[in-house]
Amino acid sequence: KVKHRISQSSSRAQSSLYCSVWFQSTLVVAEHNNEKLTPITLNAITAASKLGGEVSCLVAGTNCAKVAEQVSKIQGVKKVLVAQHDSYKGAMPEELTPLVLSTQKQFNFTHICAGASAFGKNLLPRVAAKLDVAPVSDIIEIKSPDTFVRTIYAGNALSTVKCNEPIKIFTVRGTSFEAAATEGGSGTLEDVASSSPIGTSEWLEQNLTKSDRPELTSAKVVVSGGRGLKSGDNFKLLYDLADKLNAAVGASRAAVDAGYVPNDMQVGQTGKIVAPVSHTLSVVELYIAVGISGAIQHLAGMKDSKTIVAINKDPEAPIFQVADYGLVADLFKVSIWD
Ligand SMILES: Cc1cc2nc3c(=O)[nH]c(=O)nc-3n(C[C@H](O)[C@H](O)[C@H](O)COP(=O)(O)OP(=O)(O)OC[C@H]3O[C@@H](n4cnc5c(N)ncnc54)[C@H](O)[C@@H]3O)c2cc1C
Repeated sequence: KVKHRISQSSSRAQSSLYCSVWFQSTLVVAEHNNEKLTPITLNAITAASKLGGEVSCLVAGTNCAKVAEQVSKIQGVKKVLVAQHDSYKGAMPEELTPLVLSTQKQFNFTHICAGASAFGKNLLPRVAAKLDVAPVSDIIEIKSPDTFVRTIYAGNALSTVKCNEPIKIFTVRGTSFEAAATEGGSGTLEDVASSSPIGTSEWLEQNLTKSDRPELTSAKVVVSGGRGLKSGDNFKLLYDLADKLNAAVGASRAAVDAGYVPNDMQVGQTGKIVAPVSHTLSVVELYIAVGISGAIQHLAGMKDSKTIVAINKDPEAPIFQVADYGLVADLFKVSIWD
């Protein structure tokens, strides 16, 4: 009714702008471990704030009052919706989807988003399918409440997507939006009824890699190895160098596929995006690629690093086209490791 009245006003263009700002309301689904909020949620909150309307956060967990408290202090968050139930253990999408749907039914959000992490990628497509809308994944820019930018062709082209769905569902690339400030906000806390357990899957355990080195997706310096390393044992060269530089260690997919290192170290299109092609807040100051050819799928994850150093014995390797400093040499013979 209100929308109708406004659109009758003398300035149509202006009223449609007001409509688009006034009537947005976005739900950000928070990712956390019941103790701490996962940083990518802060980037998703910034993205949600850019839409112009009210931002609410859903914090669902087994015992997540502490996280809800943290979220209420984040700048830009108006309301924190809290749901606690044992079935939310492990944040399984089967159990969280009904909760997001019932919250959506209650509050009628125009947008629902989360970080484009394994959590968000797992949950939001399911929510979108249940709402019968097409989600927009891994956005890097918001042009207007219905128009988003995302990368295609392994980050080599940007696609601007206009979403005509009644509810816009999207995941947010963390490195493309600043983190929202964690202090200074005053969101209200509100309990929402937890959904009945679905029980189709059971959370058994989670084995997380423990490392004293910085996280790949937030490190300022990354040392990465490829198939040229020839074995997992030889990655020790990189670990020792990384420890001197306070760097994270990454790898190419070929190195992961060959079993040299675990999958969570993979950088690239189907791995982790540490400093992608464009439209990002580049976090990586220095990326050292050792024995990596520089396939576009690898570049998709690191090309926008401020300084790229490549060591490769093949002078024609494509990595040299993006490198600021290149060393054509056998990696086992160069004396940079000491
Ligand atoms: C859909 C799809 C998604 C993909 N996603 C990813 C992704 O996310 N990340 C990713 O990395 N790849 C990805 N790939 C794979 C990608 O195409 C390449 O195959 C991969 O990046 C190659 O890894 P590499 O450079 O380590 O191996 P190679 O291409 O085998 O290169 C090894 C390099 O090491 C050099 N070398 C060998 N020995 C030495 C030595 N002694 N000293 C110095 N240099 C040496 C060689 O000259 C060569 O350039 C994807 C592919 C597809 C199709």
